[in-house]
Amino acid sequence: MTDNPENALAGADIATLAIRSGQQRSAEGEHGEPIFTTSSYVFSSAAQAAARFAGAEPGNVYSRYTNPTVRMFQQRIAALEGGAAAVATSSGMAAILSTCMALLAAGDHIVCSRSVFGTTTALLNKYMQKFGVRTSFVAATDYTQWQQAITADTKILFLETPSNPICEVVDIARLAELAGANDCLLVVDNCFCTPALQQPLALGADIVVHSATKYLDGQGRCVGGVVVGSAEHMEAVTAFLRSAGPTMSPFNAWVFLKGLETLQLRMQAHSDAAMAIARWLSAQPAIERVFYAGLPSHPGHSLAARQQRAFGGVLSFCVSGDQAAAWRFIDATRIMSLTANLGDAKTTIVHPATTTHGRLSAAEKADAQITDNLIRVAVGLEARDDLITDLQRGIDAL
Ligand SMILES: *Cc1c(COP(=O)(O)O)cnc(C)c1O
Repeated sequence: MTDNPENALAGADIATLAIRSGQQRSAEGEHGEPIFTTSSYVFSSAAQAAARFAGAEPGNVYSRYTNPTVRMFQQRIAALEGGAAAVATSSGMAAILSTCMALLAAGDHIVCSRSVFGTTTALLNKYMQKFGVRTSFVAATDYTQWQQAITADTKILFLETPSNPICEVVDIARLAELAGANDCLLVVDNCFCTPALQQPLALGADIVVHSATKYLDGQGRCVGGVVVGSAEHMEAVTAFLRSAGPTMSPFNAWVFLKGLETLQLRMQAHSDAAMAIARWLSAQPAIERVFYAGLPSHPGHSLAARQQRAFGGVLSFCVSGDQAAAWRFIDATRIMSLTANLGDAKTTIVHPATTTHGRLSAAEKADAQITDNLIRVAVGLEARDDLITDLQRGIDAL
C-alpha cells in the first residue's frame, strides 16, 4: 500500500519530494517510516524462495540485497536528484568506491578535479591505481586542462562543486558536454549543495554521489552515502554492493529519511547565514580575503548563481597574519565546534592547512590556495548574531 503514489508527486517541488517521496506504508498504516531491523526475509513456499533467488519474482531475500527502509531512502534521493534510481552505501567513500568498481576495469582512466575531498584523492591514487585504473588530476576550473587530460582510455570525469575549502565553482554543463563528446561519464560529488541547491543530472551529469553524512543527515548523527543515476548504471552499482557488501544499515537510512524532511529549509538557512557572515567578514579590516561564491567578487559568482539555487553553507577566509594567528583565531571561538566535519546544525571551524589538507605538499597547498592563514567555517543553524559574536572573539585574538 502506498499513501503517496509517486505519480501524485509528479512535478512536485523539492521541499515536497524531500518529505513525501519514496514512502511505502505497510498494512499497519504507520504515518512515519518504519525501521526494518531484519537481516533476512521468509518465503511463503519453496517455489517462492526459488523464484526470489532466481530474480524471477521481485521481493526481499536478504538485507545486503534489499531492505524496505533503505529502499525508501533510495527512492527519495532518486526523486530529489531527478535520477532513475539510487543506491545507498555505508559511507560517502563507499559510494565513490562502488561507482568506480562497478563502472571501471583495469586499463581505464579517470580525470579528476584536484579540488576534491582528500580521501577521494587517496582512494584513486592508492587503491584504484593499484588495480590498474589511472587518474589524472586537473585544476577544477581550467577547462583546457580537463580536455587535454582525456585519453582514449578515459571513462570518468569526476568533480565536486563548490570545492572545499575555497569554493571554486565548476561548470557542470560544460564538463557534461566534454564527457559526452568523449564517451566518458561525468560523476559529480554533490555533497556541498545537495539536490536542494543543485541538481547535476539536470545539467547533464551522468552520476551523482553523496556523502549522506553531511547535509542529507544535517545533524551529524551517522555515516552513509548514495549513488544516483540511470537504471543501467545503478544496476551495475547494486551488483557490486551485493558482492562486496558496503550497504547502508536500515537504522541509518531511517535517520537520513528524517533528515531529508528538513533539507530544503536547512539548506536555505545555512545559505542565508553563510551569506550574511561572508558579508560581515568582508567588512573586517583584519580579514584579508573571503572565499564564498555568494559574494559578487568571487570569480565563480555568476556561474554559481546560474547553476545553484543558493550558495551553500561553507565559506573560508584568510586572516591577516600567519599560521599562529589563524590558530589564535580558532582557539578564541567559544560556540563553534573545532572539527573537520560539516553539514551539521552546529557550526564548525577548522584550519585546513594542518588538518583536512595537512597531507598536501607545500606546492600542492600553494596550488590549491590552502595558505597557513586560511580558516574554513561550515555555518550551522545557530542564531547569526551569536556566530558573529564568536567570530569577533577570533578577530580580537589576532
Ligand atoms: C565527507 C565527504 C566525503 C566522504 O564521505 P564519508 O561519508 O565521510 O565517507 C566525500 N565527499 C565529500 C565532498 C565529503 O565532504
